[in-house]
Amino acid sequence: MKDKFWIIIISIVLVLVYAIDYKLDKANSKSEDTIKTIKNRGYIIVGVKTDTRPFGYLENGKNVGFDIDIAKYIAKDILHDSNKVKFVQVTPSNRLYLLNVEKVDLVIATMTITPERRNIIAFSKPYFVAGQAVLVPSGSSVKSLGDLDNKNVGVLYGSTAEKNIRIILPSVNVLGYKTYHDAYRALKAGKIAAITSDDTILRSYAMTDSSVKLLPKRYTKELYAIGLRKNEESKTLLKIVNINITNMVHDGTLTQLKRKWKLN
Ligand code: GLU
Repeated sequence: MKDKFWIIIISIVLVLVYAIDYKLDKANSKSEDTIKTIKNRGYIIVGVKTDTRPFGYLENGKNVGFDIDIAKYIAKDILHDSNKVKFVQVTPSNRLYLLNVEKVDLVIATMTITPERRNIIAFSKPYFVAGQAVLVPSGSSVKSLGDLDNKNVGVLYGSTAEKNIRIILPSVNVLGYKTYHDAYRALKAGKIAAITSDDTILRSYAMTDSSVKLLPKRYTKELYAIGLRKNEESKTLLKIVNINITNMVHDGTLTQLKRKWKLN
């Protein structure tokens, strides 16, 4: 009986020692710094849009746009070659996930800083300011969001506009789309009375298609920033990204890019 008691006590102690040892081991085994991973890999992986003129879209199968040029500037600094970037397509609904499951190192994709997103990822300093606007067919009598009462309005799933419109005008019938192409097709087909999203993105449709127009009112201030993982391993990368944004302001690159992509 006494032997049995001691066997149980010793077994418990051994299990505890093993558990503590395992926990300490895990705490000490730090993952590799993201910047080291990027340098060893030889290229940076950036999540970008492929349907969002003039920020991130495809031209002859190549990624181009304002956000793409920012990614190249950062690659030039980290890897001394602006072409050392692999672009991965993201949408407003999957970009945080793809970042956190380490499919991308950075997200540069017309992404607004919000408190909710800050709980999930880290943001760089802002590099651009947009505002929520409304795109309607040219012949539409709609003059502002208020006129869209009980009408179908298209938004991008997971976008700031999706959340905002539900607050600004709860009576609107919100229809979500995965891409801007899908929302635009629905507008042209008369399935929705308007699309609401960032002015800079919607303006490109109004500029190339006279059958749609952008209404003048802006409903929000959208500060675009670069998204990073919110962990210890990405802290150095965050510092480097912020230095790059400061440099882009001071060396005139941001102004030049705004001019290049007609964002002034
Ligand atoms: N800037 C907005 C957002 O972050 C627009 C959505 C988009 O990226 O297309 O939600």
